Amino acid sequence: MKLLEIIIERKANSLNRPFTYYYDGEQEVAIGTRVKVNFNNAIVLGYIVKVETSDLPLIELENKLGFHLSPVIEVIDSEPLLNPELQNLAAVLSKRYLTPLISFVQAMLPPSLKPALSSLKAPKIAFEKHIERLNKPITTKLTSQQEAILNELSLKKSLPVKQIKSKSAINTLLKHGYIRFFDVEINRLKIDDEVEYKEKKLTLDQKNAINSVIETDKVVTLLEGVTGSGKTEVYLQLTKHFLNGGKNVIMLVPEIALTPMMVKLFVYRYGKDVAILHSELTAGEKYDEYRRIARGECRIVVGARSAVFAPLDNIGLIILDEEHVESYKQDALPFYHARDVAIIRATNIGAKVLLGSATPSLETRARAQKGVYNYVLMNKRINERALPLTTIVDMTKAANLSRASTIFSTTLLAALKEVIEKKEQAILLINRRGYSAYLTCRSCGHIFMCPSCGVALAYHKESHLLKCHHCSYTTTMPANCPKCGSSFLAKIGFGTERIIEEVEKLFPNVGVCRLDSDTKQSKRSLAKIVDSFQREEKQIMVGTQMVAKGHDFPNVTLVGVVLADIGLALPSYRSNERTFELLTQAVGRSGRAYKEGKAIIQTYNPHHYAITCGASQDYARFYKLEMAMRKVQQYPPFTYLIAVRFASINEESLIALTHKIAEWLMSLKLNETQVIGPLTPYIAYQKKKYHRFIVIKFHRDDKIKSELQKMLDNLMKYSDIDVQIDVDPYDY
Ligand code: ADP
Ligand code: ZN
Ligand code: ZN
Repeated sequence: MKLLEIIIERKANSLNRPFTYYYDGEQEVAIGTRVKVNFNNAIVLGYIVKVETSDLPLIELENKLGFHLSPVIEVIDSEPLLNPELQNLAAVLSKRYLTPLISFVQAMLPPSLKPALSSLKAPKIAFEKHIERLNKPITTKLTSQQEAILNELSLKKSLPVKQIKSKSAINTLLKHGYIRFFDVEINRLKIDDEVEYKEKKLTLDQKNAINSVIETDKVVTLLEGVTGSGKTEVYLQLTKHFLNGGKNVIMLVPEIALTPMMVKLFVYRYGKDVAILHSELTAGEKYDEYRRIARGECRIVVGARSAVFAPLDNIGLIILDEEHVESYKQDALPFYHARDVAIIRATNIGAKVLLGSATPSLETRARAQKGVYNYVLMNKRINERALPLTTIVDMTKAANLSRASTIFSTTLLAALKEVIEKKEQAILLINRRGYSAYLTCRSCGHIFMCPSCGVALAYHKESHLLKCHHCSYTTTMPANCPKCGSSFLAKIGFGTERIIEEVEKLFPNVGVCRLDSDTKQSKRSLAKIVDSFQREEKQIMVGTQMVAKGHDFPNVTLVGVVLADIGLALPSYRSNERTFELLTQAVGRSGRAYKEGKAIIQTYNPHHYAITCGASQDYARFYKLEMAMRKVQQYPPFTYLIAVRFASINEESLIALTHKIAEWLMSLKLNETQVIGPLTPYIAYQKKKYHRFIVIKFHRDDKIKSELQKMLDNLMKYSDIDVQIDVDPYDY
């Protein structure tokens, strides 16, 4: 009989330990395979973490262990889901992030293979029905259609059934035993159109960057390269170098839907050696790609955040493009950062990591400065192309406002006109979706709020709905104020939809498209919008921060930032960094090819260094000023943060417990450690639960994680309190 220790699919802290079951069936059971078990009268999937053999009869075993043992209901897999390297990585990460192991195991696997009951219904291998010729001689009279099919079969070994028009011809041939059906395993993923991207002769900067990565004995290299300095070619040729040396490569990009280019470039250069993994794929496509990687059929994985867990063997290099982008950090359990995972994984297996960015995150840049990372700079644009000419427009000055529009300044309007006349393209950035920021009653001042989060609802014109941008709450646009009955409702502030309307009003014959997360109705629609703008089917693209991400649109000669201040107001120690990055990336979209570019930034804070440095793409100055600020305020990278997030349906006991925990943490008197809170988050009530959090700010982790682990162990008995630990939180 086998004794199995399994972790179950539920991610709650209170269940974060192995449970013991027995198995006396015939199948192989090993660490890393899934089993179906009965857990507290519910059927759940478990994941085996330990296997022991015992010769004792069940009763004696139970007596020895002191508890009742249940049998495994079913063994799901015939072999382990994760290889030893990934199993070990999951364990390491679970400790580092103080997060249940099961949540990392789940993050590593595609939907069809996750240890979760839902996986059993997810798509598995896909087959296509084919026909092939059997040996039987022809003894009947054939129709011309039947003959055509047999002729084709003698040329090609087999034919997909769906290619053949006449089903009756197939049926007749089958009936006579001339042909037979068989299934061919297919790969569901199709990469639509290819692009040509011939290998380029490297510039000196590029050569230097490549050599530096190859020669350094440090695990991590930061490649700081201004926009347009040719980082992509560095990634491609470094990949070639590693492939030639027999090593495999993972190429991570922030969001594939927004940067489909990188995938296409890799596919163009390396064809079938490339596998793709990202969230826009269907469960079936993910499964196919995952298996292809696990079977060793490809050598490069291009993907978003979770592709850092790709079951690729023999990895030599992991590249993160735009390493500063926040989508690399997962903002739900497990709260991992793909950059940290890449570094941990690479260190474990003796691989290297290349972090590329025009505006590295402060943490990364500071480590490069200290010599923890190898550092290379590419500060010239290819062909020494000038940076776009950037103007900051002070919207507090009446002289800058135009009579034709309440949104666009005279400067931005004139520039838009010019672009349109020259048949070039423009991007307008407004970091807010929807039509208006909120809706208010002109008579009594009532503001329409989300009943579950307590934040103002945005008006969306296309759907004519009020939407909460924090949860999924939506409601129809009211005709009257619920408080006073007035029908005078005002839409305050503006978002992408409103900008589109303004452009259409001012320039009625110009093609405009919108890129924001509302557009995401159908799968891959974002990529389609980007593609069509790339093909110059539309002249103006309006969108949120998505428009600023890594695109290379050669005909864009104007970028207008409609309101640069939105991000500065958000409550986070990273708001300056976010604003600076957004502006730099946005400005960098202009004038990327042979034409000169312009950028216009409208703002109410024209002297704020995040805005002036963003406008001039002056990363070095921003880094200096922001580091000084972080030092004064003792924020990362000068300190580390851990946020402990609590949620409960019972507010009173939540408050009592979080106070007790904060007091206990303070009573530990840990060296150079500050305990902040309990705090009430910006969104204090969500998904029917109250939320509180405690932040721990520290310089060195001597004891903190082990103390927090003790806390988690103690909290296991409170099943009505959810506790999650967010190591290196972004929003605080
Ligand atoms: P980055 O990612 O650093 O912003 P890209 O990789 O997009 O820059 O390169 C900018 C432009 O320069 C692209 O159009 C690219 O095709 C071109 N380019 C890159 N390397 C070379 C090279 N060695 N010779 C000529 N053109 C190049
Ligand atoms: Zn009212
Ligand atoms: Zn809400």
